[in-house]
Amino acid sequence: MHPMVKPALRRGWRDLDTVQFGMAPAHAVTLGPMDRATTGFLDLLNGTRGMVLLRAEGRRMGLPDGRVDALVERLAGAGLLDDAKGGGPAADDLRGRRQALDRLRPDLASLSLTTREPGDAIARLAARRSLRVQVRGAGRVGGVLASLLAGAGVGEVDVRDGGKVEPWDVAPGGLPAEAVGERRDQAACRAVRRAAPDRPPRRGTRPRPEAADPGHSLVILAPRDDVAVHTPCPSTAASLISSGTPHLYAGVAEGTGVVGPFVLPGETGCAGCLHEGRTDRDPTWPRLVAQWRSGRPRQVRPCDLTLATAVAGLAAAHALAFLDGHRPSSAGARWEVSVPGLQWHARPVPGHPACSCGAAERVTEEAEGEHASETGGRHETMAGQRPSTELCRKAGAARPAGTWRAHV
Ligand SMILES: [Zn+2]
Repeated sequence: MHPMVKPALRRGWRDLDTVQFGMAPAHAVTLGPMDRATTGFLDLLNGTRGMVLLRAEGRRMGLPDGRVDALVERLAGAGLLDDAKGGGPAADDLRGRRQALDRLRPDLASLSLTTREPGDAIARLAARRSLRVQVRGAGRVGGVLASLLAGAGVGEVDVRDGGKVEPWDVAPGGLPAEAVGERRDQAACRAVRRAAPDRPPRRGTRPRPEAADPGHSLVILAPRDDVAVHTPCPSTAASLISSGTPHLYAGVAEGTGVVGPFVLPGETGCAGCLHEGRTDRDPTWPRLVAQWRSGRPRQVRPCDLTLATAVAGLAAAHALAFLDGHRPSSAGARWEVSVPGLQWHARPVPGHPACSCGAAERVTEEAEGEHASETGGRHETMAGQRPSTELCRKAGAARPAGTWRAHV
C-alpha cells in the first residue's frame, strides 16, 4: 500500500490541533487532536511512499514507534486515505492508459469522496469500463445522456432509436448538427464514441453463446415522445421487469423535466406502480392517458434545451451512482422540475399492490418486520453487485430480494 491522504478534500485547521478535511458538509471530516510532528508527517502521505519507507521517515522525524501505522489506520478508518497502487488488476490497467485516466481524473477524485477503502475509487472507475448500459431514445435528452455516460468511463453505451436525426434533435454534447438526416441510432453511437475517453476493453475472446450474454447493467428509457415521458407505458418495460433489469426513466414533457423512477424490479415502484397510484388519486387518469396516447403525434414537441440538458445530466448522475454501487434517490421516486421556477422536487413512487412487479409485497414484508438477518444483505445487493447468474426471471412475490440483473 502506498497511502495517500485523499487530495480531493481541501485541508483547513479549525484550531491548533484539529484539522478539517473537506469544505462541503456532505463529505467533510474533522480529525484531532493532532500534534505538530504528526501534522508534518501528513504531507508525506502523498502516494509516493510505501509503508516501509514511511516508517523510516517517521523514525527520522522522531515519531514514536507505531505512530505511523496508527496514523495510517486512523486516516483509513475515517475514509480519508487512498492507495496510490491499489484497486486490483483492472485499476492497474487503467493507470497504464495515461490519456484516458487524465481525462477521468476529476471523476476519480469525486469517486474518492464516495468510497471508503483505500484503492476503492480507482477500482470503481475501472469497473465502469466493463459495464454495458443501453439508452433507449436519442433525442435531446437521450443523446446527451448517452454521451455523458461514455465520457464518465462507462465502457459500452448502446443507444437505440428509430428514424433519422431531425434538426431539433441536435444538442450540445449530444447529436451534432452534421448528423441531421443520418440514422438516429448510428449518429448517437458515433457521438458516444467521440465522448468516450478511450476504447472500451475487448470482451473475452472465448466463444459466447447467446445465453451467456451478460445483458445490460442498466437500461435508461429516455423517449422523445412527451406522452411516454409523462406517463410511461408499463408494457414497454415488461421484459425489463421480468428479466430483473434495473431501469431508469428520464425525459422532458411540455415544460417539465423528469428523472425517475429508478426501478429495481420487484424492489421499488415501477411504471405500473406509478400508473396505479395515479389512478387511485385521480379516477379519470386512465381516460386522459388514453386520449393523450391516441392523439395525433406531433413532430416537434416542447423541449427546452437547457431543461433537457439538466435532465440528461441528473439522470446520468443517478445512473452512475447506481453503477458505482449506491442507491440513487430516484429509486422509488420521480424527480421533477418545471420551467421557469426550476425547483427540483421528488414525488414518491411506492410499490402498488395492483402491480404485478412485486414491489408492494416487498414493502409489506419489510413493514411486517423481516428479520434483520434476512435484510442484512440488502445494501450489498442494492449496490448491484450480484452476478447475473443469480438472475431470477420470475417477477412478483416469488422474486427473492435483490435479484435484478446486475452488472458483471
Ligand atoms: Zn410495479
